[in-house]
Amino acid sequence: MQRLTVFKKMGYDMERFVGYVNEGLLCCICRDVLQDPLQAPCEHAFCTSCIHGWLVQHNSCPEDRQFLDLSVLRPLYRYMRNDLNRLQLHCRNTASGCEIVCSLESIGRHERECEYSQIPCSNSGCPLQVERRNLDSHLVVCEFRSRECPNGCGYAILSAGDAQHNCVAELRTELELLRSEMICQIEEAKHEMQSRLDSQRRHMVQKESLLQNEIEELKSQMSKMMSNIQALMATERKHRQELEQAELEKREVLELMKNFQKDCLSPQNGSKKATHFQPLSRLESMKRKTWEATAI
Ligand SMILES: [Zn+2]
Ligand SMILES: [Zn+2]
Ligand SMILES: [Zn+2]
Ligand SMILES: [Zn+2]
Ligand SMILES: [Zn+2]
Repeated sequence: MQRLTVFKKMGYDMERFVGYVNEGLLCCICRDVLQDPLQAPCEHAFCTSCIHGWLVQHNSCPEDRQFLDLSVLRPLYRYMRNDLNRLQLHCRNTASGCEIVCSLESIGRHERECEYSQIPCSNSGCPLQVERRNLDSHLVVCEFRSRECPNGCGYAILSAGDAQHNCVAELRTELELLRSEMICQIEEAKHEMQSRLDSQRRHMVQKESLLQNEIEELKSQMSKMMSNIQALMATERKHRQELEQAELEKREVLELMKNFQKDCLSPQNGSKKATHFQPLSRLESMKRKTWEATAI
C-alpha cells in the first residue's frame, strides 16, 4: 500500500458518503470511492486518472500483477455502475455550509450550481474567487467594477482607475473620433452624389444624340414627301392641261359633226362624197386621243 501514496487522490473521499459503501466500489489504487471508473480483465476497478497514472510506469494490475495496459480497460459492469450512482454523499462544500446530500449520479450537477462553490469574480481583471452566493455583494465593492462617471461625461470607469479619469480628455477623444467619422461619411456621400450626377449626365447626352438622329431622320422623310407631292402636283397639272385640250378638240369635233350633218341634209352637196371622208378620219383620231388622255 505504501507505494500507492505517490499518486494524487482522485476518488471521492469516503467521509463524504452516508451509510455503508461496498468494498467493490473502492479504487484499488487510491482506496477512495471510484471516480470515472475503469475495469481490468482481472475485474479490479480503478479511477480513470489513478490507473492512467499507474500505467505510465507499470504494465500490470497493482493488485494481482497480471498483465495490464490501456487497451484492455473497459467500463465498469452495469450493476456496479448502478450501485455506485445510487450512493448518497454530501456536497463537497459541506465545510463552507452547504447541507445538500444527494446521489453520486447527480452530485456533479449540484456542485456546478452550488451556492457555496468558489467562482471567479465576473469583472475582468479581478483576481478574487468568491462563493457564488456572495458574488452580488462582492460586485458592489469590487475594485474592478465599472460605473458611470459621477461628473456626467457618460463614460464607464473602473473604480481602480478613478484618479486617472479625465472627463475633458475622454470627451475630446470621442469628439475627434466623431468628427473624423463624420468627415468620412460626408466624403462618401459627396462621392456617391457625384457619381450619380455623372451617370445621369451621360444618360442625357446619349438621349439627346438619339433624339437628334430621330429629328434628322424625320427631316429627310419630310423632304422626300415634299418632292413626291411636287411630282404628283406636276403630273396633276399636266393631266388637267391634257383634259382641257381634249375638251377643246371634242368641241371642235362636235362642231364638225354638226356641219357635216348640215352638208348631208342639203341636196346640192349630195354629190360631193369625197369631202366626207376627211372629217370622219379626223374624228376617229380625236376620239383616240381623248381616250388615251383619260386612260393615263
Ligand atoms: Zn482511485
Ligand atoms: Zn487485478
Ligand atoms: Zn453544495
Ligand atoms: Zn471582483
Ligand atoms: Zn467623466
